[in-house]
Amino acid sequence: VPVVAVVGRPNVGKSTLVNRIIGRRQAVVEDVPGVTRDRVPYDAQWTGRRFTVVDTGGWEPDAKDRAGAIAAQAEIAVQTADVVIFVVDVTVGATDVDEAAVKMLRRSHKPVILIANKADNQNLELEAVSLWSLGLGEPHPISALHGRGSGDLLDDILRALPPTPPIIEGAPRGPRRIALVGRPNVGKSSLLNRMAKEERAVVDSVAGTTVDPVDSLVEMDGEIWQLVDTAGLRKRVHQASGTEYYAALRTAGAVEAAEVAVVLLDAGDVISEQDQRVITQVIESGRALVIAFNKWDLVDEDRRFYLDKEIDRDLKRVTWAIRVNISAKTGRAVDKLAPAVRRALAGWEQRVPTGALNQWLTALTQGTPHPVRGGRAPRVLFATQAGAAPPRFVLFTTGPFDAGYLRFIERKLREEFGFEGTPIEISVKPRK
Ligand code: GDP
Repeated sequence: VPVVAVVGRPNVGKSTLVNRIIGRRQAVVEDVPGVTRDRVPYDAQWTGRRFTVVDTGGWEPDAKDRAGAIAAQAEIAVQTADVVIFVVDVTVGATDVDEAAVKMLRRSHKPVILIANKADNQNLELEAVSLWSLGLGEPHPISALHGRGSGDLLDDILRALPPTPPIIEGAPRGPRRIALVGRPNVGKSSLLNRMAKEERAVVDSVAGTTVDPVDSLVEMDGEIWQLVDTAGLRKRVHQASGTEYYAALRTAGAVEAAEVAVVLLDAGDVISEQDQRVITQVIESGRALVIAFNKWDLVDEDRRFYLDKEIDRDLKRVTWAIRVNISAKTGRAVDKLAPAVRRALAGWEQRVPTGALNQWLTALTQGTPHPVRGGRAPRVLFATQAGAAPPRFVLFTTGPFDAGYLRFIERKLREEFGFEGTPIEISVKPRK
């Protein structure tokens, strides 16, 4: 969803304008000079087009380094925006503070819509021409309070938004790509054979798809899937000694080529260093993850007890991974793989709207603030999900964040929004 940032000095009417745009009298705090308010995003819609409006209160006109504070605030808003609405109070005209902000806006090369607000009557509307001097193009006179000219403004915003590619329902897409990985002898070949047998169809060619000859197409749960780099598994080339290095290379290649990795672990054996390395490869490649405990037919009451303990101890970092207990040998629960893979892919591609993300994160970090560092507790100013597959979040903050606090945020993020079966990346951009 495209993001529109509303920037301007305090008291120029940004919040009133945001209220106009989102079309409701929400509890948007009025601009009060000197009152710090952080960036607040709202989800908006105009003629069927959805976008996020970010109200950038929080300018700190009384801060010691006034120009610096303004520049930093505006920069964050502008960095994350597709379009910037720059609001000037037409009853005051362009001030030196406005001009300082304009310099930064120009450097950003983002489209800027210049608003001459408080043009409540025709005389004031004419005053707007004086704002040509800012060099931001045509000033748009509006009255956010009385609604004068705001429909035109919304049309202008829409025109400035980047085009969103139309989502074609049922558009042809290649099969989802799965890597079947795990250390030697966990049962990868057996599972591949089982899938082929169980579903009868290791499809060799499907109309309209080209599949690398090292890959296999199998049908599971009514869907065709591409198992990447299975040539070695099909031929059961079990390289002999000293091959861990090559095995790791092969795993890395398969994981990179896939969207989701099914990591096989031997349920009858302890979770080893080598198993951990495979899991790490998947996480570091940013792929969705399903953990399949194979050889479940060998697991008795006793083993189950120890396995639970091992899982608690050794798989703590991947509590979000989806787990299935299968037996390639007997076919037990192999039909659970496709639904598990689907869930992991859904988490991998999930997106949280900017508005919902920031509202949730503000409440969370106010309830449990970051510990004090160097006399201050660093705060989140604004957050956005910068990407999906895997989900990537960027937090703009007032200072560096501890790794422990980021883990807390990640855990809560998962509790709130799900993201099961996928690693999450959270990066922090402290304001300078
Ligand atoms: P790969 O190296 O990961 O491809 O492992 P293989 O598929 O070659 O299997 C290694 C050994 O484990 C073989 O002797 C298989 O018969 C055995 N095996 C594989 N899956 C299972 C299972 O679910 N249960 C049991 N009991 N044995 C299995």
